[in-house]
Amino acid sequence: MLSVKSVSLTFRHRGHAVEALHGVGLQVAAGETVGVVGASGSGKSTLARVILGLVAPDAGSVFLGDVPQGVPRSADFRRRVQFVQQNPRSALNPARTIGQTVALPLVAHGVGDRRSRSARVGELLETVGLPVEVATRRPGDLSGGQRQRVAIARSLATGPECIVLDEPTSALDVSVQARILALLRSLQEERGLAYVFISHDLPVVRTLADRIVVLRSGRVVEEGTVQEVLDAPTDPYTRELVAAVPDPFRTPVRRR
Ligand code: ADP
Ligand code: MG
Repeated sequence: MLSVKSVSLTFRHRGHAVEALHGVGLQVAAGETVGVVGASGSGKSTLARVILGLVAPDAGSVFLGDVPQGVPRSADFRRRVQFVQQNPRSALNPARTIGQTVALPLVAHGVGDRRSRSARVGELLETVGLPVEVATRRPGDLSGGQRQRVAIARSLATGPECIVLDEPTSALDVSVQARILALLRSLQEERGLAYVFISHDLPVVRTLADRIVVLRSGRVVEEGTVQEVLDAPTDPYTRELVAAVPDPFRTPVRRR
């Protein structure tokens, strides 16, 4: 449903150039999770921003189905492909109530009236495991895990087919991480969502992803099923990443 074809992007910053992405390709089928892994600075967040159309690549394109997408993205694309970022603190406007934040995509896409939107916000909060009462609160009143649930509720508002998740649990405590991951898994089962799941945490990616793409210095160095990439990596860099994971996690875990 979503594909990235030969995307390159070089940032120019104070006289020097950083090639953040070089010829990167990626394909996401309906309902599947593609894990994107790589060390810090390998281009993961830049790839997310290119997919969402927040930055235009120098070369290559992003397709929805077989239709190349322009920058800025169309309302149709923004309805169908959503973004959840690493840090829910900066992703949520502290001045808005949670209800206003979750309703925003509905307002932006002209969905419903005030009354029906308010009911929909209640449903969305319930879906992500939050009490309806948080609608009147502000982000500062919530924990990190609750804030990330709000960001997920907002991303679901338009009924997307795909969500790009950029390190969605990295800013959270380990116990909270596990619950957010369980939520993402159940939402996917219920709604047939596709995920682009960006993470530097291989054990987490193993539990969630169907396929994995490994980025190194802006290039795809390896891709394949979770088993292929994590249990039998052929690329030296992927081997290093896998070897860096503490032992208990390296044992293959049977999924689902
Ligand atoms: P990751 O998410 O994998 O840590 P990023 O995509 O954030 O990596 O960054 C990839 C490279 O691009 C890094 O070298 C980073 O410093 C650089 N970069 C990212 N965004 C910008 C920007 N807006 N301006 C200049 N350089 C950037
Ligand atoms: Mg990043």
